[in-house]
Amino acid sequence: MKGNRIYNFSAGPAMLPEEVLEQVAAEMLDKDGSGMSVMEMSHRSKVYQNIIDTAEADLRKLIGIPDNYKVLFLQGGATLAFSMIPMNFATNGKVDIINTGVWTKKVIKDTKLYADVNIVASSEEDGFRYIPSLKGLKFRPDADYVYICDNNTIYGSKYKEYPDTGDIPLVCDMSSCFLSEPIDVKKFGLIYAGAQKNVGPAGVTIVIIREDLLARAPRVPLPAYLDYRIHAENGSMYNTPPTFAIYVCGLVFKWLLKTGGLEARAKINEEKAKILYDYLDQSKLFKPYVDKGSRSLMNVTFRTPTDEMDAEFLEGAKKYRFTNLKGHRSTGGLRASIYNAMPIDGVKALVAYMKEFEEAHK
Ligand SMILES: *Cc1c(COP(=O)(O)O)cnc(C)c1O
Repeated sequence: MKGNRIYNFSAGPAMLPEEVLEQVAAEMLDKDGSGMSVMEMSHRSKVYQNIIDTAEADLRKLIGIPDNYKVLFLQGGATLAFSMIPMNFATNGKVDIINTGVWTKKVIKDTKLYADVNIVASSEEDGFRYIPSLKGLKFRPDADYVYICDNNTIYGSKYKEYPDTGDIPLVCDMSSCFLSEPIDVKKFGLIYAGAQKNVGPAGVTIVIIREDLLARAPRVPLPAYLDYRIHAENGSMYNTPPTFAIYVCGLVFKWLLKTGGLEARAKINEEKAKILYDYLDQSKLFKPYVDKGSRSLMNVTFRTPTDEMDAEFLEGAKKYRFTNLKGHRSTGGLRASIYNAMPIDGVKALVAYMKEFEEAHK
């Protein structure tokens, strides 16, 4: 870590690779001889068109996105997608959802405005400590799509495999695990991710949509901005896109390509998470929150025996300048978000502090 930078365990907006931040700084006053910052550039200019085209091409290469999928860079966060998806794609008015936490509960609420919702499975009764078993799940044959949230940022759970939905499109919120591991896009009808967790700055949501979904008749009359087809027809340029955020995401895609792509990244992420979980599993003081088979590699949730001790742990973390280790306000406890840009040394340093804390509380 350079200069005065610290280990920031925030769930999002989160750390970005130092190399990317340095490039952004170097190009701040003059991007590629244009004499201006990307922030000041017309989105209709040649220089900017090249930035967004390169970002899309690099993302396609990084993931291996098939040609029959469109890639969009939109605004409104993941939260706008919660309602945009049923508005656009719940043609029959039937949506099947697996409930795995706060984000899918919000989706259920918004989807109910437009469609009949069938909760196919849920781990709510057990405090969302796991991803429900996928064996024997029954989807309605006439469901418009099946909806899941891959990585549950708040509880710290993650799908290890995806439900087999046959011909029914699978729609997936990948906000907090997007680009943390390889993605088999053809398993999905739609994938989306708010950038600010694992990819880039807040302000852009990346959407990958199969073309046959785009061809569906929307459920309700749509204002232009809420119509995915209009964004697809206009190459994410129907209106002013989040230009700077897309530019930074593009630099992150290049960084991922240069450092070995998503398979190499997944290995590093597994190694990082293992350091933390191995420690948690043998600790007498700290307890991991999520069941072993469902653990997230990105958001590691845990707690001490009491809320008071959690608070003491957070207070003590200040001397090492670790930030944002507090669990989400809806769950309490502790959470370390260790996205792509968190160096392995950050995880090791955190575990060293946890050991020290445990030793002091024997
Ligand atoms: C953060 C998050 C959201 C909400 O994202 P916004 O960009 O704030 O709307 C939705 N889903 C998941 C999985 C998230 O982690």
